[in-house]
Amino acid sequence: MIRTQILSDLIIDEKLLDRIKVENFLLVYLNLRPCSRMNLPAELPKGDSIGREIDEQIFPKWGQIQSETDPSKRLAAIASLKRDMRDAFETIVLSSEHYKAHLNWAKKLELHSRLVAVRPTVSEFYLYNNRKIGNRLKRLMRERERLKAKTYKNATPTMDRVRFTYPEEFEGSWLKEMGRTLGYPDCCVDAYASDRRKGVNVEKRASQQIEKIEQHAEIEPLTYFIGYFFPCSPNCKEALSKGKEFHERLCVISSKLGDLYSHLVAENLRNVRHQPEIISEYRKRANSYP
Ligand SMILES: [Zn+2]
Repeated sequence: MIRTQILSDLIIDEKLLDRIKVENFLLVYLNLRPCSRMNLPAELPKGDSIGREIDEQIFPKWGQIQSETDPSKRLAAIASLKRDMRDAFETIVLSSEHYKAHLNWAKKLELHSRLVAVRPTVSEFYLYNNRKIGNRLKRLMRERERLKAKTYKNATPTMDRVRFTYPEEFEGSWLKEMGRTLGYPDCCVDAYASDRRKGVNVEKRASQQIEKIEQHAEIEPLTYFIGYFFPCSPNCKEALSKGKEFHERLCVISSKLGDLYSHLVAENLRNVRHQPEIISEYRKRANSYP
């Protein structure tokens, strides 16, 4: 049975972003998708300023490492910097009221959660509704670690930074299983994996597809039914039917929830449309950093 009161309480909690409440908590709670993923601290309210707070603690130390010429001292300093980064993440992000609110909501809605460190100051927070998915996630995370270790071992100085940092993004079978776990349609997951394999920039492709269609037709925002999801095409029937189903289910709970979802998918569409600019802005910041 759906506990309507609890859902209304969730919707007014300001410690979570609206998109996270709906896409990550509610849709998993309602069994509309098996699993959701959010990035920490980026997808917490004021995620940007939390990120900056961590940067400010770390930047001076990074400057000291740059000027260190002795290789063994440099290695030791990098190891110590990473420890400091993990500590800063723990104090600023994991001990925050905001993150704790996410854990509390997972408990109240009886969802399983899993926190996975991706880098010293970046983690992923997964929510899912059954143990089978938990086991699948565990396997996927182990596999990602293996891919990273392999890439690290074979790294070359000229290697593309994205391939080095996110080797799983170029591993078709991993991407497909992760995409399906997050509730994305097969056609979209297959297109994403095949583009990555061919070296096609998916974000650019998705943005250009929108641009092209927009010139002569309206795009249905419900196709962009989850944030940071890239449909195989803005006209993908599978993605649209998921968006419609989610919208209907949320409208049944309350019309306010239905309206909120309509607002979120419109924002998702706009974000995909501008994703290449958003990413280049993000990289500019990330590249000035260890
Ligand atoms: Zn599709």
